[in-house]
Amino acid sequence: MATYDAIVIGTGGVGSAAAYHLARRGHRVLGLDRFSHGHDQGSSHGQTRMIRQAYFEHPDYVPLVKEAYKSWDALESEIRTKLFHRIGLLEVGPPDGVLIPGVLASVEKHNLTVDRLSENDIRNRFPMFRSPSGYVGIFENDAGYLLVEQCVLAHLQLAQQHGAELLTDEKVVEWNATSRGITVRTTRAEYSAGQLVVTAGAWSEEVLASLGTSLRILVKHLQWYVSPSSEMQQQRGCPTFFFELPEGCFYGFPQIDHRGVKVAEHSGGVEISHPSRLEQRISQSDQQRLDNFVSGCVAPLTTRSLDHKVCMYTMTPDEHFIVDRHPDHHNVCFAAGLSGHGFKFACILGAALADLATQQTTELPIDFLRANRPGLYKTD
Ligand SMILES: Cc1cc2nc3c(=O)[nH]c(=O)nc-3n(C[C@H](O)[C@H](O)[C@H](O)COP(=O)(O)OP(=O)(O)OC[C@H]3O[C@@H](n4cnc5c(N)ncnc54)[C@H](O)[C@@H]3O)c2cc1C
Repeated sequence: MATYDAIVIGTGGVGSAAAYHLARRGHRVLGLDRFSHGHDQGSSHGQTRMIRQAYFEHPDYVPLVKEAYKSWDALESEIRTKLFHRIGLLEVGPPDGVLIPGVLASVEKHNLTVDRLSENDIRNRFPMFRSPSGYVGIFENDAGYLLVEQCVLAHLQLAQQHGAELLTDEKVVEWNATSRGITVRTTRAEYSAGQLVVTAGAWSEEVLASLGTSLRILVKHLQWYVSPSSEMQQQRGCPTFFFELPEGCFYGFPQIDHRGVKVAEHSGGVEISHPSRLEQRISQSDQQRLDNFVSGCVAPLTTRSLDHKVCMYTMTPDEHFIVDRHPDHHNVCFAAGLSGHGFKFACILGAALADLATQQTTELPIDFLRANRPGLYKTD
């Protein structure tokens, strides 16, 4: 049986980064994935992911996202390819909603620099967008987007260059941990290692069944719309955008290539019991919600779409990630339930998991993501 220092189950967003950090530190790593590298069956595909520091979800994420910025910069330098486009983010919402007060809480607690925009400021500075009356905006200059598949592939390419063995189209069917080490059985073979890192995305509940976490899988649609005007192009200064509206939260990216302007809904989403139940088509009502956002708030867009992709959010009950050592096995650590906002952290969570696997602890600020918080388990 082939033996390694560490095995990573799932080499998507976070697992690719964990494999990279482990290999870079000189460990013998095996990364296993049930699909091919950079595939579109999980949660890390669809061209782009937003990255921002003024974190409306909770100010606790800010120190971690600052570390993530450094880590993406380091990855870019090593791979010599641009992955992170700092083109700014316009956020629009009611002054007493969830988004604007949440952003301002992080700004104030962590002394971040943003521009506060009145309704008029939004109209004058960003004429391509329309916001409901009485809404305000925030512009975060240092925010932007990551090229999601390219980030995953960069981590995997460098992991391999640092000596990691990466196997694809090989599903893990069972793992066992004892005080002496771990064994992993796949559809093809059996492997052993000193440490196990589980980063199985939407399959986390299945792969980490003994943990008993309560995770929900939500189906999310990405739609690329036709823009007849050049106003929505990145080169013309169109930023990423996020709107909190009475009907839900919607976001999008400027046109970066022939594919058009990508728009999606952050709120809502149909729940499925298992990733195998994911259907590729968009329902009429989901399509209508996106079309309504586009025609109401994004002036230069038509509602003709050029492309569509389906993706999954894996939600924890409190919508914060779980990143920790397994409570029953000192040699197993995991990241799960990235709740629709985890990609920007993928690189740094990979580093944190490499720390947990090799040193049992990390100095990275992930304490608030521990597995022992109340309400995370089916039995809670
Ligand atoms: C539509 C959409 C938009 C998003 N927008 C943003 C955004 O703007 N900003 C942001 O920060 N985040 C965003 N997110 C969230 C972010 O993309 C995810 O949180 C993140 O990509 C999840 O990474 P992961 O490694 O947990 O999962 P994945 O990348 O899906 O990786 C899990 C991997 O495990 C593998 N696997 C599972 N089970 C097994 C098994 N038994 N054997 C072998 N391999 C296995 C899978 O094949 C997969 O490759 C978005 C998510 C979606 C779906």
